[in-house]
Amino acid sequence: MTMTLANLIDGRMQSPRDGAYLDVFEPATGQVFARCPDSGAADVEAAIAAAGHAAPGWAATPAAERARLLERLANLVEADLEAFAQLESRDSGKPVALARSLDIPRAVANLRFFAAAITQWASEAHPMEGHALNVTLHQPLGVVACISPWNLPLYLLTWKIAPALAAGNAVVAKPSEITPCTAARLAAAAIGAGFPPGVLNIVHGHGAGVGQALVEHARVKAISFTGSTRTGARIAAAAAPHFKKLSLEMGGKNPAIVFDDAELSDVDLDTIVRSGFANQGEICLCGSRLLVQASIYDSFKARYLERVRRLRVGDPQTASSDLGALVSAAHFDKVMGCIERARGEGARVLCGGDAVHPDGRCARGWFVAPTVIEGLSNCTLTNQEEIFGPLVALIPFSDEAEAIALANASSYGLAASVWTRDLKRAHRLGAALEFGIVWINCWLLRDLRTPFGGIKHSGVGREGGTDALRFFTEPKNLCFDLS
Ligand code: NAD
Repeated sequence: MTMTLANLIDGRMQSPRDGAYLDVFEPATGQVFARCPDSGAADVEAAIAAAGHAAPGWAATPAAERARLLERLANLVEADLEAFAQLESRDSGKPVALARSLDIPRAVANLRFFAAAITQWASEAHPMEGHALNVTLHQPLGVVACISPWNLPLYLLTWKIAPALAAGNAVVAKPSEITPCTAARLAAAAIGAGFPPGVLNIVHGHGAGVGQALVEHARVKAISFTGSTRTGARIAAAAAPHFKKLSLEMGGKNPAIVFDDAELSDVDLDTIVRSGFANQGEICLCGSRLLVQASIYDSFKARYLERVRRLRVGDPQTASSDLGALVSAAHFDKVMGCIERARGEGARVLCGGDAVHPDGRCARGWFVAPTVIEGLSNCTLTNQEEIFGPLVALIPFSDEAEAIALANASSYGLAASVWTRDLKRAHRLGAALEFGIVWINCWLLRDLRTPFGGIKHSGVGREGGTDALRFFTEPKNLCFDLS
């Protein structure tokens, strides 16, 4: 049976005002399994009006009370974890095991983290040697927009709305129209948690409609966006004339760099494989350029390929599937096109390279085999453009200087991982790599207190910890004359 989703506006689940809906597909089967509102200007206007009405009261609500409601929402999601995980898997094509172990627990953690963080956040005081005292307040902005993508739907939505709400803002969120289901379930949980009407609004629909209207609306003071670099540029251009605060988390073309002194254990190798293929390669932090020191290139390649070939692609609902389906027919076509383009550029396909057609209910799903290629230079389109699928290119390098030069030769700068046992080298690489995040002998190890984000075409601003709370507030300095 097809589910019909609704918007959360002013504390109530509401159908779109003009009655229009979008089909939502289950990537594993290629079939429609839900309908989400194709909201229009009237829905956006209603959500912003509700948020504007709620904002002053929410800003005046003690931080401890805001934290209590976020904590209650976290508890409700946690109690419903299995249903959320099943829904996230059906909606996005990701293995249910991943949604169960990563996406949904992390969404709960985001809510809990910012509930706790806001109760610990202090104002600053700057005394001027006895004759004046400065006190810096961090005040909420009012109405803010949170726009999120399809790859980690609930995880990234909560990563934005939790700090925005904790800091005392009223939120209008726009989840991806491709994966709207867990956001709709979260909306129902937020009503259950008891948030005052209008504090959290979730409006579904197209980016060009709902998203653009939010970005351009005079009452929206800040936009927190995660998605593609192309959309980020569009949002930055639309927001600039209104001087809105902007946080942009965008695409990447991340390197994983393996030195000949890495002494890789089996666990390390599994992590390197995961860093390329987790969530079908549809994580902005996945390493799609695997730089390997020439002296160990052949031995590394053999161990690596042996593991990649063992990855199982299949029904995301089955516990044994390591990779599920790509999120949409359009994205499947794009990734298959990129594999063809890589062949055209002269790549040797070492494994994968084809679509996968599982038996049974998934026969018409959008599955791609984990694909490893070699033989392409770093400056090819394959190694410069974000593909966002299960495609990893092996690239040899001779020494440390070349590794740094190759890694940095990219318009993106989101995340890099470095594999070495040489501590001094690790520090040198950490300083020299032009990326917002550098992992040393690990990948996707996240501490929610740390700044998260990229440089160059990967991002503007940082999320996480106090960076997120700073983004969602305006500092105001009060200067008291004591003379
Ligand atoms: P996308 O840019 O197509 O869409 C992201 C969101 O923006 C969606 O909700 C979409 O509806 C909305 N949108 C589209 N056009 C808009 C407009 N004109 N105005 C306002 N909103 C608009 O991205 P996607 O395909 O959903 O996600 C994949 C991309 O996200 C990849 O590039 C990936 O690297 C990136 N990503 C980055 C991070 C990060 O933290 N840096 C994390 C996850 C994903």
